Amino acid sequence: MDEVWDLVVVGGGPAGSAAALRAKQLRPDMRVLLLDKADFPRDKACGDGIAAHGRDELALLGLPDLIADYRPTRSLSIVSPGGSHVRATVARPNHVVPRVVFDARLVDAARARGVEVRRHRVRALAAGNGHVVVDGAVAARAVIGADGANSVVRRLIGVPAFPDRHTAIAVRGYADVPVEDDVQFIAMQRQGWPAYAWSFPVGDGSANVGFGMLLPRLRATGLPGREVLHGRLAELLPHLPARDLRAHHLPLSPGRPRPGAGRVMLAGDAAGLINPLTGEGIYYALLSGRLAGEAAVQAPGDPLSSYRRGLGRALGRHLRTTDVLARAAQSPRFIDAAISTAAQRQEVFDLLVEVGLGAGTVPPALAYAVVRRWLADGVREG
Ligand SMILES: Cc1cc2nc3c(=O)[nH]c(=O)nc-3n(C[C@H](O)[C@H](O)[C@H](O)COP(=O)(O)OP(=O)(O)OC[C@H]3O[C@@H](n4cnc5c(N)ncnc54)[C@H](O)[C@@H]3O)c2cc1C
Repeated sequence: MDEVWDLVVVGGGPAGSAAALRAKQLRPDMRVLLLDKADFPRDKACGDGIAAHGRDELALLGLPDLIADYRPTRSLSIVSPGGSHVRATVARPNHVVPRVVFDARLVDAARARGVEVRRHRVRALAAGNGHVVVDGAVAARAVIGADGANSVVRRLIGVPAFPDRHTAIAVRGYADVPVEDDVQFIAMQRQGWPAYAWSFPVGDGSANVGFGMLLPRLRATGLPGREVLHGRLAELLPHLPARDLRAHHLPLSPGRPRPGAGRVMLAGDAAGLINPLTGEGIYYALLSGRLAGEAAVQAPGDPLSSYRRGLGRALGRHLRTTDVLARAAQSPRFIDAAISTAAQRQEVFDLLVEVGLGAGTVPPALAYAVVRRWLADGVREG
C-alpha cells in the first residue's frame, strides 16, 4: 500500500472538517487525511443559516470565534401556510455566513491543525484486514464519509439511497437588502405544502434567499423543477430579485440516522442528517462530524459502534421527535396552530426553535397530543 493513515475523511464540508478537526484536537499526532473533490473556497447551495447550536459546536472544536466577524441575528419572523404570523426574538442569536466563506475557514482551520488536505474525488473503497483501502492507493484505520447528499461513500458501503418522501429540493440565491435588515424571514406556502421561502440577511447588504419543497410535491406539478423553484421564489419574495441561483436536494432525517458499516462512518448529509421540519443541516453536520472524529480516536478497534452510541445519546430522542412532528406537519393546519400559539406564548416559540434548529425534544404528553391532533385533523380534512 502506498500510504497508511489513521483516519481518512471524505468531504470537506462542515461534517468532514469537524471530524478532522476533532480527531486532531483529541490526538494531535493522529495522521488525518481530508479528501475533497473541490478546491476551497467553493460554493455550496445552502441558506447559509448557522444556528446558535452550530456555534456551540464550533466552540467545542476549539474555534469559538470562527464566525465572530458576522453579525448575530436575533429576530425571526414566520408566516404559516394559512397566514398566521409570529415575529419574536430568539433566545440565542443565529448567524448567516455564506458557505463559500464558512467552509473554507473550516478547512483552513483543519489544515492549520495538521490535517493533510488534498483535492481528490473518491470513487472506490475496499475492506482490508483492520483497515479500509481508498481508491486502491490509501489505507486507513477508519474512514468518515462526509461527502454530502449524493454520498459516494454511502453507496459504496451499501447503505440504501434516501427515499423520495424523505427528500426535499431547494434553490437559493442572493438579493440586495438594506444593511440594517436583520430579520430572518420565512414565508410558508400552502400550495404544494410543505414548502417555504426564506430571506436570511447576511449583514453586508445582501441576503440569502431561497425556496424549498418536498421532491414528490415538486414532481406532482409535472413541470420542470427549475421553473417551479424559481417561479415560487419570485412569487413569494417578489421584492427580492435573486442572482446566483443554485439548487440542490436535501436528505431529510427519517428519524434514525444511517451511521455507516464496518470501519466506515457516515456524517452530515451523507447520513441523512437534515432536520425534516426546517432543512437545518449545518448543526447536525458539525455535531455528527465531531462525534465521528471522536469515535475514530477513542475506539480505534470498533469506531462505528462508539459513533452509533454517541449519535444516539446526542440526537436519538430529538430525531424521533422531529420524525413524529414532520408527519404531523404534513397538515398545514397543524403548522398554522403551532405558529399562532408561538405568537402568543414565547415558551412555545422557544421550543419550536429548539426543535427546528437544535436538538430539542417535545415533552411526551405534548407529543401524544400532537399525534392525536394530527389524526383528528386528518379525519376532518379527509
Ligand atoms: C438550498 C439549501 C438550503 C439550505 N439551507 C440551510 C440553512 O440555512 N442552514 C442549515 O443549517 N442547513 C441548510 N441546508 C442544509 C446544509 O446545506 C447541509 O445539511 C450541509 O451542507 C451538510 O454538510 P456536509 O458537510 O454533510 O455536506 P456538504 O456541505 O455537502 O459537503 C460535502 C463535501 O463533500 C465533497 N464531496 C462530494 N463527493 C465527493 C467525493 N466523491 N470525493 C471527495 N469529496 C466529495 C463535496 O465537494 C463537498 O465539499 C440547506 C441545503 C440546501 C440544498
